[in-house]
Amino acid sequence: YAEKQSDRKVAVYHTQMEEEHKYFLLLESALRRALQRDELELHYQPKIDLKSRQVEGVEALTRWYDKNFKHVPPNVFIPLAERRGFINNLGEWSLQVAAERAKFWNAKLDQNLTVAVNISPTHFMQPNFLDQLFQVLEKTKVDPRHLQIEITEDVVMEKSEQMNATLKAISNVGISLAIDDFGTGYSSFGMLNTFPIDSLKIDRSFVTDIPHDAKKASILEVMIKLGHALQLDVVIEGIENKDELSVLQPFAPEFAQGYYFSKPLPAKELEIFIQKK
Ligand code: C2E
Ligand code: MG
Ligand code: MG
Ligand code: MG
Repeated sequence: YAEKQSDRKVAVYHTQMEEEHKYFLLLESALRRALQRDELELHYQPKIDLKSRQVEGVEALTRWYDKNFKHVPPNVFIPLAERRGFINNLGEWSLQVAAERAKFWNAKLDQNLTVAVNISPTHFMQPNFLDQLFQVLEKTKVDPRHLQIEITEDVVMEKSEQMNATLKAISNVGISLAIDDFGTGYSSFGMLNTFPIDSLKIDRSFVTDIPHDAKKASILEVMIKLGHALQLDVVIEGIENKDELSVLQPFAPEFAQGYYFSKPLPAKELEIFIQKK
């Protein structure tokens, strides 16, 4: 009897795995289709200059709504596209759309605005990434200074000649580079010092609880000091309330992002947000 019981558990487990597998196959084909039909969208989260309180730039974040799957979060579909080998298509799409936006906004609004694009490590490390990027610059005629690329620490830790050359080429053409989710990966300070990086984005996890946790607050302070020692701009991610802002403001980071200022917004709403500032 015991044996049968465990057989059944295995059977149930198998069915669940199959269901999950099926779900992801359907999700994948829906995502590929959405990409082909240009149904993905970029939302833009303001990055606030803490001195002037103006919007210095925005971060482009991909949004996907599907009739059947409803809102699928990036934390699900980005890893899916990475696993299934089409993150480069998604990344190319987001670069193109973000560059068009940057071009449009810098012509229309009476202030400069940098648009930052997240690029996955696997995409960034592909040999033709630079070609794609330069093609986007050529097609959109965007001023490269109005574009930023966000990569994670792991990319910088990839100690290859190719990586170094890619970072240099991007920097030389005038596009700025930011290290995203800083503090969650494995970069060494020495490495950060040798690459042409402009800005350090400190991960949201280092902000949560700082009003109630003095130790966490000092860790954040040290990380900001580290960024400044490396002569980088420091961006604090994920500020959700006034208390967090009051604790970190004396540490004098240059920029801040978070729901406290604004959620990521559709293009039209972002314009309204900026014009109200
Ligand atoms: P990320 O690049 O670190 O982006 C910040 C994430 O934190 C965004 O989530 C944003 O909506 C969220 N966020 C901003 N402020 C707050 C806050 O105050 N509180 C909280 N709880 N969250 C906040 P989102 O849009 O869901 O994206 C998640 C991650 O997915 C991004 O993290 C990025 O790694 C990835 N991602 C999103 N769009 C793209 C894309 O187009 N390409 C690539 N490669 N990755 C993307
Ligand atoms: Mg980012
Ligand atoms: Mg981040
Ligand atoms: Mg993140």
